[in-house]
Amino acid sequence: MNMCDSDMLDSVLSTYGASKVDNLLDADVVVLNTCSVRAQSEQKAFSYIGRTEEFKRQNPDLKIVVMGCMAERLGCRIKKRFNSVDLIISAKNIDNAALKIINSCFINNAVKNERFDLKSEIVRYVTIIRGCNNYCSYCIVPFVRGNEKSLDYQSLINECSLMVKNGAREIMLLGQNVNSYQYGDVNFSLLLKKIASIKNLDRIRFMTNHPKDLDDNLINVMAAEPKVCPHIHLPMQSASNKILKTMNRKYTYEHYLDLIGKLRTTVPEISITTDIIVGFPEETEKDFEDTLNAVRTIRFDGLYVFKYSPRHGTVASKMADIVTLEEKKRRHSIVLKESNKISVEIVSKMIGSVQKVLAEKINNGVIESRARGGRKVFVKGSKDHIGKIFNVSIKTAKINSLLGDIV
Ligand code: SAH
Ligand code: SF4
Repeated sequence: MNMCDSDMLDSVLSTYGASKVDNLLDADVVVLNTCSVRAQSEQKAFSYIGRTEEFKRQNPDLKIVVMGCMAERLGCRIKKRFNSVDLIISAKNIDNAALKIINSCFINNAVKNERFDLKSEIVRYVTIIRGCNNYCSYCIVPFVRGNEKSLDYQSLINECSLMVKNGAREIMLLGQNVNSYQYGDVNFSLLLKKIASIKNLDRIRFMTNHPKDLDDNLINVMAAEPKVCPHIHLPMQSASNKILKTMNRKYTYEHYLDLIGKLRTTVPEISITTDIIVGFPEETEKDFEDTLNAVRTIRFDGLYVFKYSPRHGTVASKMADIVTLEEKKRRHSIVLKESNKISVEIVSKMIGSVQKVLAEKINNGVIESRARGGRKVFVKGSKDHIGKIFNVSIKTAKINSLLGDIV
């Protein structure tokens, strides 16, 4: 989502003649887009904001902008602590971020270009639903991003069509819970079908899904519509029903397993990834073992595992954080090791297979592309391949990437 917001800002700023630079010291403005989801993300941002004081010493005209969820949550504190920061744009105000930056940083030399969205990138991100109403007990997102709001259906179709006209071949639809998209009569499945009817668009992806809202309609659209890629990111968080309840996730492990079964039966080539939190308050060894066993049973194509991090203001932050950091680290590394082992087994079976890939970029004669299930595939090729779909025979497989030759 942050990549999408940064992308959007980049698009709008470029219409005012701004462009990205490779070297920070050549920049007139540095924009830091921040995340609040875990304490660690905020610490990273703090340390980066600290470094901007040095950039400013070298270039006193440089403007520093901090935007996003951390700006929403800790804007005043950031401003107080860092003299170097010129502008704070909170997450709820990012729609106007570009204008705010233009007005406060470029006032004298901004020239509005008539053409909007000149960029031609093969893969583009589109936010379809902002905010979140779910209030999972550990999560800061509803507080910093605000209430859920589905974006105007017709504007989304126009935006996607324009992107395709400008060269996009794949569109990734984004939301904290895309399954609850509802604009008038248009729900998420219908939106997917409509976007799939855009001519010259080859692929559609989406994330994130919430197990409580994922319905049969969506699974059927995934099966029926070839442009919709067979990949689903379906955060499980935990396999202990007691923990799921305290997390306020509103589904049981049995329901989750049922969804996995339906997905695999209806969309046989589907790749399934997930998020897991270890060390949530009151997570016992037994609860953790349940989650670990679920990882073994379900055999995810990939997963992200996070150590629980209390976020101020959330319901869970008022519960005793009894699992020690050491124990969180132990559980984290066990899940990671197990899931890496499974991923290696899954990708090894892909050696010798032929994957349909979409070429995204090229570096030193090596194309970076993506298979339909979402895995990165590297293959020798030329510039002419970019933006095209072709078959690759897989020769080598690593956890996060496949290597092969064009068939
Ligand atoms: N809307 C998405 C998730 C957004 S946050 C969803 O519901 O799936 C991405 C992931 O960060 C979550 O799935 C969760 O696993 C993790 N996460 C969120 N808050 C956390 C916290 N306080 N501590 C640790 N992990 C957290
Ligand atoms: Fe956070 Fe839950 Fe909303 Fe995801 S669904 S953003 S985890 S509150």
